[in-house]
Amino acid sequence: MRSYVSKLVLSACLSATACNTTNASAAVSASPEAIALAQSSIIVDGHIDVPHRVFEAWENVSAATNSGDFDFPRAKLGGLNAPFMSIYVPSSLDGTDASTQRAHQLIDQVEAIVGRAPEKFAIARSANEVQQQFDKDLISLPLGMENGAPLQGELKNLDAFYQRGIRYITLTHAKSNDISDSSYDDNRQWDGLSPFGETVVQRMNQLGIMVDISHVSDAAFYDTLKVSRAPVIASHSSLRSFTPGFERNMDDAMVKALAANDGIIMINFGSSFLTKTAQDWYNVRDQAQHKVDAEFGAESPQAKLFSDQYRANNPFPYASLDDVVEHIDRAVKLVGVDHVGIGSDYDGVGDSLPTGLKDVATYPNLVQGLMNKGYSTPDIRKILGGNLLRVWQQVETVAAKLSGPST
Ligand SMILES: [Zn+2]
Repeated sequence: MRSYVSKLVLSACLSATACNTTNASAAVSASPEAIALAQSSIIVDGHIDVPHRVFEAWENVSAATNSGDFDFPRAKLGGLNAPFMSIYVPSSLDGTDASTQRAHQLIDQVEAIVGRAPEKFAIARSANEVQQQFDKDLISLPLGMENGAPLQGELKNLDAFYQRGIRYITLTHAKSNDISDSSYDDNRQWDGLSPFGETVVQRMNQLGIMVDISHVSDAAFYDTLKVSRAPVIASHSSLRSFTPGFERNMDDAMVKALAANDGIIMINFGSSFLTKTAQDWYNVRDQAQHKVDAEFGAESPQAKLFSDQYRANNPFPYASLDDVVEHIDRAVKLVGVDHVGIGSDYDGVGDSLPTGLKDVATYPNLVQGLMNKGYSTPDIRKILGGNLLRVWQQVETVAAKLSGPST
């Protein structure tokens, strides 16, 4: 519902010569200049969970949808050009054939979206294709695989996923897998990357698949930097300095090391990635839920009732668009404007998106926030997508030098 409201407000701004101040009175306040800049820039979003969303509950996202954070009309309104489609494979499937199967099924979902509306979408297999498809007014859908478990310990599966269009892989997800330890898992079986993980990173360099260090443990991050011959990305991570103790975000030293490797951090929009207040809300809720689960059973009516009512009784402290801008600005101050991008996690973080950035129609608001902060047009374009495209090209160049992909 909230996302529909922002869509209407932006529609009004787009069709009028100037934004009506009444329409802009909520958190949404993009000026015609900000809207024009969003529309003329190549916006690359590092992580959007559309494939998992439509796998769970199918919708035709080439037309307007009533749920979710992404559909074609809203993406056009927001000026979005290349959202990386997350081929997300849950850690619960790690170590099984179902993991590989799920990855293929989600790639099929993206192919179906493109097949249904080839006049609107196209899969992008290179940075150049993103540019070419932008010129043809097509939305590119590049593929990023979240969790390396579908490789099932075989480099030939990595090659097969490259052939299907996978252009980044997040080495692990919620659990330590056979490639890497996870920031969310106390089990640190490898103390970083596994020996197989090192060969995976090397082969990704050869193929031209970007290495994504979002979700990995700190030790695995530093191991990856030692092994990778190409810049690496954090496709959807924010800054730990705003969320102390949250290993899923990156601390300042890591952001500096990432930039020294010429990579980029793409800021996650989820409220719990942005503010300690939102982090604390989840922690308190989880503890309370655990108590109810322990007393009545996790599947009990009491546990479900508690879960249903908790949010109503304890309003969620949403972060705001300003918090996203603050993360971007701090990262820029730390390492310069060439090493920062956006990885919203739309359709992946449920009802925790910040005010002013509720769906893919709202990128102009972010542009406005950066303009208000004094960012120049060239710098805003870099943050919106230019930096990721540069890294992608560098990864392609390294691959070509290392003998390159077989295609
Ligand atoms: Zn994720």
